[in-house]
Amino acid sequence: MSATIKNPSLIPMPTLRKREGFRKYLRVTSFRYIVQGTVLFVLAVLPFTGLFRIDLGSGRFLVAGYQVWWSDFFIILPFWLFLISGAATVYSVLGMVFCGWACAQNSLSELVDFLVKKIFRRHKHAIGLDTLTSAPQKLPSNVGYRQWFLFISLVTLISAVTGIVFAGYFIPPAQIWSDIATGTHLHQLLWVIGGISAVMLLNLFLIRHYWCNWVCPYPLWQHFFKSEGTMKVAFDDTRRGECTGCNLCVNSCIVDIDPRDTKNYTRCINCGECVIACEDYSEKRGVPSLLTFHFNGIKVDDAGKRHINRLSPVVTRFVLAGSFSLIPLSLFIYGIVTYLPFHMTLSQVPGKLDMYSVRLTNKTPYAHSYRVSESGLPGKTVDWREKTVTVPGGGQIILPFRIEKGREILGTGVHPFSITVRSLNGKPGEISQAAAYFLPSS
Ligand code: SF4
Ligand code: SF4
Repeated sequence: MSATIKNPSLIPMPTLRKREGFRKYLRVTSFRYIVQGTVLFVLAVLPFTGLFRIDLGSGRFLVAGYQVWWSDFFIILPFWLFLISGAATVYSVLGMVFCGWACAQNSLSELVDFLVKKIFRRHKHAIGLDTLTSAPQKLPSNVGYRQWFLFISLVTLISAVTGIVFAGYFIPPAQIWSDIATGTHLHQLLWVIGGISAVMLLNLFLIRHYWCNWVCPYPLWQHFFKSEGTMKVAFDDTRRGECTGCNLCVNSCIVDIDPRDTKNYTRCINCGECVIACEDYSEKRGVPSLLTFHFNGIKVDDAGKRHINRLSPVVTRFVLAGSFSLIPLSLFIYGIVTYLPFHMTLSQVPGKLDMYSVRLTNKTPYAHSYRVSESGLPGKTVDWREKTVTVPGGGQIILPFRIEKGREILGTGVHPFSITVRSLNGKPGEISQAAAYFLPSS
């Protein structure tokens, strides 16, 4: 006979072995710090590698120098759908790990909390808005100006770096460096970077986890996907009497909850700090940890051996949500394969019946040549039938197109025609756009 343990807090805890040598570092929190550092590093260097930027002027994304427009429907929509469904799969299985392991707001806030602890030797609540909602631990009255100077300087440095990185997502890095080197537009640049840095400074100095706990809507969205089976911190209720109430776990919690009472809908971000605190403390006492990560849907057989219940809701959810994300992923791949690296629009010049303009944009970072041709109107009525043009990388040209002697040769009425652009080098592709030349009777 075997029993399915419904309440995660009643799952028998594994016996912990003492950690020695390198194994001491193989802990969930070590992996978390590596993930957090990697995410922050990638976010910081990304705009300067040229791999990703946002062009605010045109509202376009720049991926490795290639422009992605909102009209690149099969790239934009499936990409976001894939992100949403992929994220939902992660939330279903691992809970709010995004907040605890990857979110830059949380990582930077933790970094400043660490500085508060190291410089002032006080709990993180000694500085910031969290003092309003949590029991503050006052700063000692003998805090010297050197400690304040060190703390403010480091937080200002982090804010300034964040300001430069953030600006790099919207202003081409080459332009930032040239503005700094030549002093051109330096004033505006400093306003942008200074403005972002000031907001960041305010955030890191005062707000930090107050944002996560009381303002950010993202945790709410993640809650929708939590179920009984989602990974969570579990307290071994069968050994409640062994808890000494040392509060190490409570004090280590980033989001100020009591890890001994982590129900499904708490704000726990699965950071593992409390688990490690209890593991370390229990190890000293020679007893198994009272806190550990658990999924539900685990079977414990009569011999006390644990088996993952493969039909548990979380696995089903993972399969369903994971499978759904394959649909946008396939559409996204289709979008990449069919991506046209140029764009053309044909429009009539306002107020001129016989004048049109062909606007041709090269969406790649390299110069490309194109053949532009007209069809549908008699050759004698157009000022050109075919042209070859070269457009610089990321550039745009406007080709005027005129219909001549329309009244004499074509007469009144509607005369359809079309303009076709074909790429001559790079990825092959063709765009046509139809138009109608209309001549009224008078
Ligand atoms: S309860 Fe534990 S795992 Fe959850 S946020 Fe607090 S410290 Fe992290
Ligand atoms: S760290 Fe462990 S022993 Fe200490 S209060 Fe938390 S659960 Fe109890």
